[in-house]
Order: sequence, then structure tokens, then C-alpha cells
Amino acid sequence: KQSHRKVKLWETEKLPIYQHKEKLVQAIKNTSCLVVTGETGSGKTTQLPQYLHQAGFCKHGKIVITQPRRVAAITVAQRVSQELGCSLGSEVGYQVRFDDCTSKDTVIKYMTDGCLLREILADPELKQYSVVILDEVHERSLNTDILLGLLKNKFLQARGESSSRKVPAKIVVMSATLETNKLSVFLGDCPVFTIPGRMFPVSEMFCNFIGPKDTESSVYVKEVVKMALDLHTSEPAGDILVFLTGQSEIEKACDMLYERAESIHYPYDVHDRSVEGLLILPLYGSMPTDQQQMIFQSSPAGVRKCVVATNIAATSLTIPGIRYIVDSGFVKQLNHNSRVGLDVLEVVPISKSEARQRAGRAGRTSSGKCFRIYSREFWEKCMPDYTVPEVQRTSLTMVILTLKCLGVHDVIRFPYLDHPEEKFILAALKQLYQCDAIDRRGQVTRFGQLIVEFPLPPNLTRVLLKAAAHQCEELLLPVAAMLSVENIFIRPGHPEKQQEAELKHKQLATEAGSSNDFAVLLSVFEKCRASESPSAWCRENWIHWRAIKMAFSVEKQLTEILTRLKQNPDFPVEKFDGHRSELLRRCLCSGYFANVARRSVGRTFSTMDGHGSVVHIHPSSTLFEQEAKLEWILFHDVLVTSRIYVRTVCPIRYEWVKDLLPKLHEVEAHELSSVARE
Ligand code: ADP
Ligand code: MG
Repeated sequence: KQSHRKVKLWETEKLPIYQHKEKLVQAIKNTSCLVVTGETGSGKTTQLPQYLHQAGFCKHGKIVITQPRRVAAITVAQRVSQELGCSLGSEVGYQVRFDDCTSKDTVIKYMTDGCLLREILADPELKQYSVVILDEVHERSLNTDILLGLLKNKFLQARGESSSRKVPAKIVVMSATLETNKLSVFLGDCPVFTIPGRMFPVSEMFCNFIGPKDTESSVYVKEVVKMALDLHTSEPAGDILVFLTGQSEIEKACDMLYERAESIHYPYDVHDRSVEGLLILPLYGSMPTDQQQMIFQSSPAGVRKCVVATNIAATSLTIPGIRYIVDSGFVKQLNHNSRVGLDVLEVVPISKSEARQRAGRAGRTSSGKCFRIYSREFWEKCMPDYTVPEVQRTSLTMVILTLKCLGVHDVIRFPYLDHPEEKFILAALKQLYQCDAIDRRGQVTRFGQLIVEFPLPPNLTRVLLKAAAHQCEELLLPVAAMLSVENIFIRPGHPEKQQEAELKHKQLATEAGSSNDFAVLLSVFEKCRASESPSAWCRENWIHWRAIKMAFSVEKQLTEILTRLKQNPDFPVEKFDGHRSELLRRCLCSGYFANVARRSVGRTFSTMDGHGSVVHIHPSSTLFEQEAKLEWILFHDVLVTSRIYVRTVCPIRYEWVKDLLPKLHEVEAHELSSVARE
């Protein structure tokens, strides 16, 4: 496969952390818990685990390093295995949701924070680890915040008390910026180790293309492309890093960059694009990792590299050679939307601290420039000072269930680094009650124990379990898998190609046989899997092959979990007859009854969860413009722009949800909360 080149030592010896190797190892030996801080790129993530390995910390357990982002866990593990000259999955491995690349030899394990949280369910004392490193804590991801609270509870407060562990795990908390004092206080006044950084000056410019009212993606995508090309033709050598929001905007921008100039071909594969000495590389979470690795290579002589990335390039991955930043000023963020009552992926202005972090990426190896496409007015009026931690802005449902399964019943007084609003905790309890994961007393039910076994949101798990009870899981497993991966339909930026893709997608929908977006997902999955060459089939039908390949693997893993659970003699079995399309939709109803809407005026629908929000069917749905024929619909998710759109939709019958809908109003959240306070 890959050759296991041992990275030249001087490369890693040049990193700022190297100077502090001995002191750092000693500091960890001296204390049970340490906060480590240092600029992005100083070598914390890649080097520190290796130093601890060399210092013998793996003798009585493994070293685990959490990452909030899946891609970061994978690429960093790849890098460290190269540096050590071993193959990935042997001494150094990674584990992320649906992808475990570790073995019994693995002693340095990179893992997403979500995976470690799940692992604590099975092994509350984390017995296999000698060092637990929580990395990228400044990102304040929900799972990392919860891990912090758990570790504080379990290891720091319990120290000295009876514990089945011989040697307690060392805890290291790493953060790129700020708040180290707050972290140290939270962790019982533990010491802080600061790796002095070297940063070159970055000049920051407001380019005034975007004002407070320009939130349409078409505007900022166009402006970053113009900006990047402008500076490509006017600025001296140095690579460009463009910050955009998500996969589709990034692909669009790359297409536009590519088309704005004559192409020159370089000996890279099709995903590589080079334009007049500009090597254009997209970077986002769902990309295959071999393509992600490309961003670390230096571009050929006379060619400028231009990476168009999500926020992943802000701190999790350090791209060498960057001198210019183009900042769109936006980020895609999961937020709880109280208007809709659901978590919604939204494009929002970044915070000022985030903007400074982005600019800083240009000053790692020499002085740099940051071009902000927005105005100073936008900065002052639209951008908050700091990013609100995820725990204070998203649904806590799975986290609360996990905590309860871990025996933390008082979820309101759990030590949160920043306490979430009580209403979010109450909403989570209510949702758990609605899907039967907890009872009226706030205790986890048997069903809740099953739900927590699945690496899926509870409503989707409920659907799967329902399907299994009705012996029709072969219909729902592919659907659950397809909903767990990024969008599978390719939307090319070029208008002509766009038309071609849309036509193909329409045809696929027709072939699926019913106006039902879930059935289309199922049909695409089955067709692709049955085809002689799935990758060729995808190319022909404008489907993301890598996304569907991922869905195949997810489906396989979910099948394994379900098969295991079904062996339990108590596994519920029910029967109802009906043809495929009806079975599919009835199973969906059992988990998605909170996402049901009834048609009201014209093409609008009104949700039934008590919010009564007015929603529209998204144009990407096969039911778009068929609204007049519909009365009741069920949807998978919501997109909020100037309107509230529902996506992935199917028509349902009222009888199927009639008995479930009252559950949405059966208890008031505060009834459950009195239990939580007990
Ligand atoms: P920190 O965690 O302090 O931000 P890292 O340990 O992630 O720093 O990165 C240290 C250095 O290693 C950076 O200069 C980065 O560019 C380099 N690096 C990290 N991953 C890779 C990779 N996959 N390929 C090449 N270089 C890498
Ligand atoms: Mg790091």
C-alpha cells in the first residue's frame, strides 16, 4: 500500500514543541492532570504522544488522543505513523465512528471525542489507557466538553478513593488558544504548560465586498473566488488558504476557480485541479483521506497552491506554506433553532476570535496577509466576540442519555465547563421521554439501553428497531446508512453539467417508483450495490461514489449491531403487513413523529410538534411542486434560510401517527426535570 517512510527527524525537530520535550514529559510525570497550550502548528497533536511513548508511558496502557473532527483524527494518525515509520493501524491507529483502524499492537490511538465517550459506556474507568489526552479543547465541541466533565468527576475527584485501577490515567488537556486559566481552575487548579510560539505578523484587510445583509452563499462564494484570483495575479509567491462554509460551496468555488482561467494539467488524479500555475485543492470533512493528504504536499515549482477549506483548516490541521488567507467570514454551524424546535445546520458569521484564528494561519512560516471579504461594519455588527460552545447551542439528547447510562442522573448539576441553558437540558429529557428512552422518573428504559448502543440519533435508531421488529430491516438499514453520510447527489457548479446531473437524479427518482425521498435513497443504494461496477455507475448518475461507499460500510456495521441485539430472546417482535413502500413509511413514522407536518395554505405545511412552524418542501425533494397532492408529510431535516425548508420528505397517512402524536404533549419538561434534580 503506502511506503512507510520515516519522516526526516529534522522536520519534527524544528517544531516549537521540540525545545520543551524533556520539561513537558517531566511535567506530566509530576502531576495527574496538565493543561498544555501552544499555537496551532507547534506540534502538540503529532509530537506529544510520541514523546510520552518514548518516555515509557505505554508500558502500562495505551495513549489515547481525542479530536473533535473525524478527518483530523485520521490524517494525524497517518502522519504520526509515517513519522514513526510504522504502518497505520499497527502501533499508531485511529478510531472514528464507523471506522476502526487499530489493532492489538496499537499504543497511540487517535480517536474522535464521540468515540471515546461511547467507549466510556463500556469501560467507565478507561482501564486500557495510561494517558488520556483531550485535544483541540478550544473548539469546545459538545463531546469534548462532556468528556472534560466526566474526567473531572471520575479521575480527579475520585483520586485517593477506592478505585480498581492500579495506576490512574494521566490526563492532558490541550488547547490552541485562550481560556487556559479557566480550564486549569475547572480541573482543580492543575498546572498549565505553555509552549512559547513564534508567529510572524499578518496584515489584516477588510475588502468590503460583503455587508451585513449579504448572507446568500452565491454572493460570498463569488467574492472569495474573485479575491483569490486577484491576489494570485498580484501577490508574490506563497500559498493561499480560502475559508468557506461546506462541501457544496467549496466544490462550487473550486469549479469556478478552475473555469476562470485556462487549465494546465499536472500529473495528479482527476480531483486535482490546476489553473495557470494555481493548484486548486478542496478540503472538507467528508473527503477521502488520500485526497486530504494532498494539501500537505508542496506544489510543483512555479505553481501556487490554493486550498479551499472549511473551518477544519483553522486549528485541527496545519497546512504548510500558507501566506495568504481569504476569509469568507462565514461558517456552517449546528444550532438549536427555537423557531423550529430542532437542530439546524446554519451558515452564520464567524466570531471575531475565530476570524483572528483564521488570519493567524498566514503567519506560521513568514509574514502573511489576510483578506477579509467583508466590511468593518460587518465585523462590528454581525460578528460576536467569541464562538458560543456547542453545549450551549445544540441538542443534548444523546449526551444526556449517555450520561444517564453512565450513572450520572443529576444531569443538571453535572460539572459543565460552561453550563448549558436549563431549557436545553429539559428539551433533551423531553425528547428522550418521547422516544421511550427514559421513563417518567427519568430512569433509562431497556429501550434506552438499546438506543445508546447505536451510533445514530435516537429517532433513527427507533426506526431501525421498529423495522427489525417487523422483519423488514433490509429496507431501513440502507436508509439509515444513507442518512448518516454526506449528501450523495453531486451538484456541479457548471450550469450545463448541473442540468445533466439534475436530469439523471430525476430519472433515479422516477425509477424508485414512488414520490418519497427515503425510497429514492433506498433505491439508489440498492441499484448501486447491484451494479457491475458501482464506481462507474456513480459517475454515470452523478452520485458521490465515496459517500455511497461509506454508506455501504455503515450499513454493514449497523447490520452487525442489529444482528447482535436480535439474538437477545427479549428482542421485541411485532407484525404488520403491507407492501414495501408502506412498511418503509410506517417504520419511519415510529421514530420521526416529531417531524410531521400537515398542509395548510397553498404550498406550505405546518408542523405538529407544538411549534406549528410554517415550512416549505425543499427544491431538492421529489415532492417539490407536488404539494397540492399532499396532506401529511414526514421529514428528515430542516434547512433555514429566508424560509424554513424541510428536506428528505415522504407522504404519510394520519392513521400511522395518530397514536404517536399525543406523546409529544404528554409530559411537560419540568415534570421530568424534578426527577433530574433528585
Ligand atoms: P498542533 O497540534 O500544535 O497544532 P500539529 O502536531 O498538528 O500541531 O502539527 C505539527 C506540524 O506537523 C505542522 O507543521 C503540520 O504542518 C505538520 N503536519 C501535521 N500533519 C501532517 C501531515 N499529514 N503531513 C505533513 N505534515 C503534517
Ligand atoms: Mg493540534
